[in-house]
Amino acid sequence: MNIMYHSTRNNAKELTASQAVLQGLAEDGGLFVPSALPVLDCSLDSMKDMTYQQVAYEVMKLFLTDYTEEELTYCIEHAYDAKFDTEEIAPLVYADDAYYLELFHGATIAFKDMALSILPYLMTTAARKNNLKEEIVILTATSGDTGKAALAGFADVEGTRIVVFYPKNGVSAVQEKQMVTQKGKNVKVIGIHGNFDDAQTGVKKMFNDEGLKAELKEKGFVFSSANSINIGRLVPQICYYVYAYAKLMAEGKIAEGEQINVVVPTGNFGNILAAFYAKNMGLPIAKLICASNENKVLFDFFRTGTYDKNREFMLTSSPSMDILISSNLERLIYRIAGNDADKNKELMAALTGQGKYEITEEMKKGLADFYGNYAGETETAAEIKRLYESCGYVIDTHTAVASAVYQKYVKETGDNTKTVIASTASPFKFTRSVMNAIDAKYDAMGDFELVDELSRLANVKVPNAIEEIRTAPVVHDKQCDVDKMQDTVKAFLGM
Ligand SMILES: *Cc1c(COP(=O)(O)O)cnc(C)c1O
Repeated sequence: MNIMYHSTRNNAKELTASQAVLQGLAEDGGLFVPSALPVLDCSLDSMKDMTYQQVAYEVMKLFLTDYTEEELTYCIEHAYDAKFDTEEIAPLVYADDAYYLELFHGATIAFKDMALSILPYLMTTAARKNNLKEEIVILTATSGDTGKAALAGFADVEGTRIVVFYPKNGVSAVQEKQMVTQKGKNVKVIGIHGNFDDAQTGVKKMFNDEGLKAELKEKGFVFSSANSINIGRLVPQICYYVYAYAKLMAEGKIAEGEQINVVVPTGNFGNILAAFYAKNMGLPIAKLICASNENKVLFDFFRTGTYDKNREFMLTSSPSMDILISSNLERLIYRIAGNDADKNKELMAALTGQGKYEITEEMKKGLADFYGNYAGETETAAEIKRLYESCGYVIDTHTAVASAVYQKYVKETGDNTKTVIASTASPFKFTRSVMNAIDAKYDAMGDFELVDELSRLANVKVPNAIEEIRTAPVVHDKQCDVDKMQDTVKAFLGM
């Protein structure tokens, strides 16, 4: 089946997969969605002996239908290679009654690597297929992890440049160091005086600025996105849910067809949307458990049907989830509105105008598969400590939010369905918060001393991504105000 893509705000204009990957965001500000969700056409039983790369091919071929088998295989083979520190790519670890799907074994030790390792290949392949003449400028807003993963993926990739905006005071020490030490002649990293939502809004504004786009085109540039608003980010994220299921079958933990629950620590709603897509493609998932930190706008939404971003933005120990405008929720809203682009457009206009919208009773029914809850800072820290003390397994702060929410879910419902928790970052990326959660005495130690201590405690080798930044020189020190983001991009492009 040939899958085409259109905007969540306009059903009429169709693009091929490669065109949607290239463009990133639709001209009307909407997000690209597939014309229909494909169904898995390879049995789960036959996938249980497949490698990660093979499963990825089976899933991605269903969405990226204008890529040839040769092209897609090339992208997959180059993405999921020795950049990952384990051949499994995404190992499952059993700890205290749940399966932690470790998505942080890539180059930058967060789950963003799962998609951003392949996106540059998908994008440069798309550029070739569509005879694109312009140089691609990737504009990226990051809450901490996307930035580094996108930089690592696009650094020195021919025909591309990348600009990353991160909240200057809103990321962890390791996250910042990883970004500001990024080498490459086509990269630019800028700390903004604002939060992630400011960064994302600023970037989306540039995407939708027709005047700016025309100016760019004249100079031989075209914008694209590495954020999860790009369908080329979302599709690779579906693969690991299918892979995890096949792995559980292979290990004899579940029977074919047995339902599992999935818990996802959520910010921009990309990762959990990928799980939702997987479910709708036929993967036996019962509940999609959406875990938030103190920025619990999604918890409130699932409870009340009203999405309301008018609230205080909280800085937490899980900075990659410090988000009040979850962009990918738009893809779900569109779907539960019965693929009604006008209805979706109306709600998104209300979000931009009043900062909130309310869905209809009919639409609420479409949320039945979701369960939302949140974990505060104390609960998150307590969960890290609990898991470490009960089984010696050390998780990062984001995964701890998910794990704490899972505990609440089980207590509330008594549901003992086998459960996969998306483990989205290595604890080494948030060492100070993780170590302080285990024991307050660690607060006195220096950043890298703590890294070594965590390595001893968890009995895990210090990841390369951390070793690299111990001594790496800072090469980016630019900061800017939110209203100067566009000027900064132009200056970088010599315009
Ligand atoms: C980005 C990120 C999240 C949130 O994922 P979304 O797809 O934005 O919901 C959770 N944890 C970590 C470590 C992340 O980097």
